[in-house]
Amino acid sequence: MSATDETTLFANGLLPQIGLIEITVCNGRIVTIGKSTGQTNANLVDLGGKLVLPGLVDGHMHLDKTLFGLPWTPHAAGPTRMSRIETDKDVLPHLPVPARRRAALLLDRCIANGTAHVRTHVDVRTDMGLSPLHEILAVREEYSDRVTVEIVAFPQAGVMRCAGVVDLLDAAIDAGADLVGGIDPSVIDRDPKGQLDAVFEIAERKGVGVDIHLHEPAELGLFSLEEICARTKALGLQGRVTVSHAFCLGMISEGAARDAAALLAEAGVSIATHGAGGSVIPPVLILREHGVNIFAGNDNVRDTWSPYGNADMLERAAIVGWKSDFSRDEHIAIAFDIVSSCGAKALSIEGYGLAVGNRANFFTIDASCVAEAVGGHPARSLVVHGGRIVAREGVAA
Ligand SMILES: [Zn+2]
Repeated sequence: MSATDETTLFANGLLPQIGLIEITVCNGRIVTIGKSTGQTNANLVDLGGKLVLPGLVDGHMHLDKTLFGLPWTPHAAGPTRMSRIETDKDVLPHLPVPARRRAALLLDRCIANGTAHVRTHVDVRTDMGLSPLHEILAVREEYSDRVTVEIVAFPQAGVMRCAGVVDLLDAAIDAGADLVGGIDPSVIDRDPKGQLDAVFEIAERKGVGVDIHLHEPAELGLFSLEEICARTKALGLQGRVTVSHAFCLGMISEGAARDAAALLAEAGVSIATHGAGGSVIPPVLILREHGVNIFAGNDNVRDTWSPYGNADMLERAAIVGWKSDFSRDEHIAIAFDIVSSCGAKALSIEGYGLAVGNRANFFTIDASCVAEAVGGHPARSLVVHGGRIVAREGVAA
């Protein structure tokens, strides 16, 4: 194979600040990117004048829970978080389609929507052991040439209230999970010190990051947040800890939110949001003003927790922007930042973005600028991962 054959020229793309551009890719990486020169190449892909954007980052998913691959299933859980946890116990172990297949179908949708990187939480429970984790590890391997998947060992039903879960979390990291998770240390476990000490002890000993679901309201949530920040700093885990949801930050006074933002920034703790429908969400602009990294994920996509979702991170950006009352282009650009660069930072993705030397992960969309892409989020025209076309016109290849 000659050098020419190994190089692909993606021509006639649009970057609003430059105009029409071309991208040369070799061995999965961007070799050149700049104004169109009209050069030709044996491997030329015409981008049709469409907007080029970097691959999206879905920083909070539950691949193992999705009901993709099954006929439409009416939502069975009640309105409380605990009823959803109980429903999981009744439903998930008995689904007729294995987690590996359901997760693969969901990943196909992610890829078709231009997502290049996913962080998924995977249930770690005593009744199912590590079987969901092993299935998601298998699908991660299967899809490794199309999307990267980072896995959080997630104690959905609690840590201290379920004997054996601490040991299972430990085993999950040994089996291949990348981060250790937690959930509502006060409300679910009623033992905040016990849960947070156990989770951070595993993180320190195994050298992994932490991502904790925190739905606790107002001052109670703030207390947990402060405890998480204290442990993050004490163990030198700055930059490797995420608090997911953190509804509490939207339930307190602006002054208290600013104090919390300063604390989070100092501790290097990121916040993940999905623009929850049933709750206020963290104040995006205040957090960013203080230097806190806030990113986003789709969270539950058509599963036992939510019947909604299509795995589109541009739609998620629109939801976060809508919940935040963003309407000006510069604010909508922040919503896009949250589903792209901010997610890449939280997931420690090296070489992210449209620049020479980086992985050639990008997509095209029929829009004139980022704000239009987020606002209407039409189907992705072409999705490229590692220089290879992995989806066309909203369908995974
Ligand atoms: Zn979640």
